[in-house]
Amino acid sequence: MAKAEPELVQMSRQVSSFRWPDAPEEEKFSVCVHCGFCLDVCPTYQELKDENHSPRGRVLLIKEAAEGKLPLDESVIDPVFTCLDCRACETVCPSGVQVGSLIETARGQAHAAYPPIGRAGALERVFLRGVFPHRSRLRAIGKFIRFYQRSGLRTIVRKTGALSILPHAAREMEAVIPEVAADMAVDLLPERIPARDAKKGTAVLFTGCVMDVFFAAVNEATARVAVRNGLELLVPREQVCCGALQIHAGDREQARILAKTNIDVFLATGADYLVINAAGCGAALKEYPDLFRDDPIYGERARAFSARVRDISELLVEVGFAAPKGHINRTVTYHDACHLCHAQHIRSQPRQLLRAIPGLKLVELPDSERCCGSAGIYNLTHPDMASALLERKMDDIPETADAVVMGNPGCMMQIRLGVHKRQRDLDVLHTVELLDAAYRKEAAEQ
Ligand code: SF4
Ligand code: SF4
Repeated sequence: MAKAEPELVQMSRQVSSFRWPDAPEEEKFSVCVHCGFCLDVCPTYQELKDENHSPRGRVLLIKEAAEGKLPLDESVIDPVFTCLDCRACETVCPSGVQVGSLIETARGQAHAAYPPIGRAGALERVFLRGVFPHRSRLRAIGKFIRFYQRSGLRTIVRKTGALSILPHAAREMEAVIPEVAADMAVDLLPERIPARDAKKGTAVLFTGCVMDVFFAAVNEATARVAVRNGLELLVPREQVCCGALQIHAGDREQARILAKTNIDVFLATGADYLVINAAGCGAALKEYPDLFRDDPIYGERARAFSARVRDISELLVEVGFAAPKGHINRTVTYHDACHLCHAQHIRSQPRQLLRAIPGLKLVELPDSERCCGSAGIYNLTHPDMASALLERKMDDIPETADAVVMGNPGCMMQIRLGVHKRQRDLDVLHTVELLDAAYRKEAAEQ
C-alpha cells in the first residue's frame, strides 16, 4: 500500500497559487540559499533598493506563491514583471539558481491567471501575436515605415505634432528607428549560399523578425562573414520569429507554436548549426527545451535543435575565422548584451573578432555587462526604469570611442536612443558589421 503523504505536503499542493501547467519548478527555487551575492549586480535593486525587486526577493516571492503562502496578486506579479530578465544574478549566484527560468515561468502563470488587457493586451494582440509571427505582415510594416521615412510623410507628421497621440516611449523610439531597407534579408538572400573555400560545415541563418525589418543589413553582413569563413548557409523561408518577446511577456503558448515551427524547419535541413546574430533570440533558441519540459516528443526535438544553436561570434571562433587584412581606423567600445554574456556566457568571442581587425582600437566600457534597459519590450512597459538604466549606460561610454559595438538589436535600438538624447557623435554597430567592413576593404584593396 502506498505510504500516505504528510498532511502539510497535501495542503501545500492543494493551495499552490500556480495552478496552470509549466509552473516554476521547485528544484529551481529551492536551491537559493539567501546569500544575497546577487543583490549588488541586479539593476532593478540598484535603482529601487527594495528587497522585493532583487533576485533573492523575487525567488522568495515565487517560492511562497508556489507553496500557497502568497496569492498570485500584484505583490508577486509586479516584482516578476519589473525584472529585466537580464540574468546578471545568474552570473554571480553560487547556487546556480536559474532566475531567468523562474521569472519566465512565473510570468506564464500570471499571463494565464490574468490575460493582459488595456495597453499590455493591445501590445500583445497587435505585435506579439498579430505581427511578429507573420512574415507577410512584418514585410508590410517594413514597407510602410520605409515609405514613411522616404516620402516626406515623416517630416509632415513631426511638424504637425501628430506623434503626440503616441505614448512617450513610442515617440522616443520613432526618432531613432533606423532607415528600413527595401527588402528583408530572408527575402533577398538565396536559399542556399555555398561556402567560400574549404567548407567547414552547413549552417541555417536565423534572420529573426525585428532584426530583419530594422537591421536587414546586419543579417546580410552575417551571411557574408559566415560564407567567407567556410560555412555553407541555408536560409529557409519557412522560419519564423523565435518567440523570445512572447516568452518575456509570459505568452508561452504562442512561443511554443513558433518554437515548434522553427524546430521542424531546422531539423528537416540536417544542418550542422543554426547561426544567429541577436543575443535575445539566441538565448531563447538555446532554451527551447525549457518550453517543452512536459512534452516527450518536442522535448527531445528541442534538445537536438538547441544543441546546434550558435551566436555568430561563437561559431566563427569555434570553426576558426580568417583575420581580415582591411584596416578600420576607429576607436570603439563594446557593450555586452545581457543575453549574450549572462545567458549564453559569450564574452571573449566578440572581443576576439574585434581585436583581429587591423587599425581598430577597442577600449573597454566600464560595467559593460550591466543592462542598458532594452530587455525585449521592457522599454515600452517600464519606460522610467529603462530610461534610468540607459542614462547610466550612456554615462559610462568612453569619450574616446567613436562607435559602440554590440550583438543584439534591442540594445542597438536602445543605445541609438541614448546617443540621440545626448546628441553624441557615436555610431551604434553590430560586431559583424565591423568584421564584414574589414573583409570588404581587404577585397577592394586586392
Ligand atoms: S539567487 Fe543565488 S546569489 Fe541570490 S540569494 Fe539566492 S543563492 Fe544567493
Ligand atoms: S534577471 Fe536581472 S533584473 Fe531580474 S532579478 Fe536577476 S539581475 Fe535582477
